[in-house]
Amino acid sequence: MIASHNPGKVIEIKALVNPFGIVVISSGELGLVEPEETGSTFAENARIKAEAAAMVADEPALSDDSGLCVAALDGAPGVFSARWAGPNRDFRAAMARIEAELKRNGAQDARAWFVCSLALAAPGQQTEIFEGRAFGTLIFPPRGTRGFGYDPIFVPENYRQTFGEMDPGLKHSISHRAKAFAKLVQSAFGAP
Ligand code: IMP
Repeated sequence: MIASHNPGKVIEIKALVNPFGIVVISSGELGLVEPEETGSTFAENARIKAEAAAMVADEPALSDDSGLCVAALDGAPGVFSARWAGPNRDFRAAMARIEAELKRNGAQDARAWFVCSLALAAPGQQTEIFEGRAFGTLIFPPRGTRGFGYDPIFVPENYRQTFGEMDPGLKHSISHRAKAFAKLVQSAFGAP
């Protein structure tokens, strides 16, 4: 069970677990209620979501808590990344807010990084957390229609395209989510 109601994340996580022959369904597809994200870190929120889903479904559950941290905004929006998009999940508005806050600060520093915490919870077992980061810079106006969320303003280091422009297979191989997932695979199956 993927403990997520975010279709963009669910697509990416399904692509990551598919090669392992694991059949997954998301808590969103099952219509399970989303727990409130009361944690102050990505890891805490990932744990809350995975443990809630594992308990309700009585199955192992994998959750993803992730977000964008902007250096010149002291790491914001961070764990509030989804909330900056408001109830209508308007990421154009969220990206415009980042641009406006950077302009207001007169910020010259465009560095940013995505963080992904994956939590793997199973009934009667200790929850495990795996974290990955992808570093890069922000670019305005947003570019590209692929991916989701803040992808159109994020250019990963060593690349020229934004996550919103690049081939999804390439994003999946270098993203924060891919790095966290590689740690999970390493822990579950040992050395590749
Ligand atoms: P939450 O983990 O459900 O609280 O939401 C995290 C939010 O961070 C998402 O809704 C996206 O806006 C943003 N986010 C996380 N991962 C990515 C990504 O890979 N690309 C773009 N935005 C992301």
